[in-house]
Amino acid sequence: MNVDQTLITKIAAQVLAKLQQSAAGGNDGGDYGVYQTVDEGVAAAREAYKQLRALSIAEREKLIKAMREAAYNHAELLAKMAVEESGMGRVADKIIKNQMGAMKTPGTEDLRTEAQTGDHGLTLYEMGPYGVIGSITPTTNPSETIICNGIGMIAAGNAVFFSPHPTAKNTSLTTIKILNKAIIAAGGPANLLTAIEKPSLEATNAMMSHRDINMLVATGGPGVVKAVLSSGKKAIGAGAGNPPAVVDTTADIPKAAKDIVAGCSFDNNLPCIAEKEVIVVGAVADELISYMQKYGAYLIAGKQIDDLLAVVMTEKPKKAYGINKDYVGKDAQYLLSQIGITVPDSIRVVLCETEADHPFVIEELMMPILPVVQVKDIDAAIELAVKVEHGNRHTAIMHSKNVDHLTRLAKAIETTIFVKNAPSYAGIGVGGEGHTTFTIAGPTGEGLTSPRSFTRQRRCVLVDGFSIV
Ligand code: NAD
Repeated sequence: MNVDQTLITKIAAQVLAKLQQSAAGGNDGGDYGVYQTVDEGVAAAREAYKQLRALSIAEREKLIKAMREAAYNHAELLAKMAVEESGMGRVADKIIKNQMGAMKTPGTEDLRTEAQTGDHGLTLYEMGPYGVIGSITPTTNPSETIICNGIGMIAAGNAVFFSPHPTAKNTSLTTIKILNKAIIAAGGPANLLTAIEKPSLEATNAMMSHRDINMLVATGGPGVVKAVLSSGKKAIGAGAGNPPAVVDTTADIPKAAKDIVAGCSFDNNLPCIAEKEVIVVGAVADELISYMQKYGAYLIAGKQIDDLLAVVMTEKPKKAYGINKDYVGKDAQYLLSQIGITVPDSIRVVLCETEADHPFVIEELMMPILPVVQVKDIDAAIELAVKVEHGNRHTAIMHSKNVDHLTRLAKAIETTIFVKNAPSYAGIGVGGEGHTTFTIAGPTGEGLTSPRSFTRQRRCVLVDGFSIV
């Protein structure tokens, strides 16, 4: 009988994976990392962490490679699941986000050792793991955040207990299972990534105060960032943004228009880095608006703006307006249909001219609705951009060929990401240089997180030796 060698290898790998899974506790009440209770999930991750500690960096990197491949191969499945489950975003864009997370999240090469030598020998400063990290993930980027944080946190030597947003539960848990299966098949421990079957706010709170969680990472809005920063544990907070796109008279206007529409409409404006309002110097405003219409924006005016406001925002007792969550991440076509306007699917953005204090400018909508505010000059543009960014220090975009203008806004606004003459997503490595992350930590200062963000510095001292100078 002529048995195919590849088939034998594949069957052997599957048998081995099953054996390793049961030996490593993969089925000890958990389903590829998904448990019933927080205690069980954290305990399983703690055990997996111990096993990961016993592996070499090369073996760790093998697990990362397997995670990348599995995430990349399931990018479409997870994108479709996320759109179906959350009712937000666009499948084609979510595929790109999953793929970017899989391929452009740094691995173990991100960990650097520093050395100091002198008369008294050699001292090393190394990046060690924290242990078990509690990672709280959003509904807007469910699978991509788990892929990206999962790879980065394991590359740094940690295990992770995830607290996904309940409205993206199935997508999040499926992502965790896919990654765990890949790790096990590559010879790694079961349960390096865990979660519970029914995520809830109560469970997240229990996780945050759990004694076996060593570090917290929150990717979400202001509420969750505040919660982790008040936890008494080491915490990374990646919070909300409201990125302005500033256009001055020196910009390549057709390109600026095209880039802004592309960035604003990417995944229906769900990314925290996406253009949320345009501030344009008056002299080029008409030209910009006209090109934006050419590139897929639909301009509404007057009562249409009021009608849309009444649909997508809710009045709140203390705050002037809040977001109607039913419309977050919806297509421009759908949003316009709510006010009786029919457009083809090629329309990606709803455009409107507003005053600087309009709720569409002030609030982080996460919908492809783009208010454009005209200002008299670059000074006014910079002042307004800083104001509407609300001190989030998250992301800003500018279209200009004047280096002084670019430098002035970048200095004044102090955002973690500043994109020049490109769509916002160039700032996370889509069409721009640099690694990808979906956890951008402005409030706590880690910036665009990568494995080294999930490490603690340790000093190792050897006295009177190994200095050869
Ligand atoms: P969200 O804040 O509603 O939820 C995020 C996560 O935090 C969820 O898992 C949720 O269950 C949990 N959570 C919320 N409030 C909590 C609390 N008080 N205590 C404990 N857990 C809590 O956000 P979302 O709608 O899922 O995501 C959109 C928001 O996240 C936007 O504001 C966006 O800008 C921000 N975001 C930021 C980044 C970044 O890298 N900075 C990335 C993605 C999303």
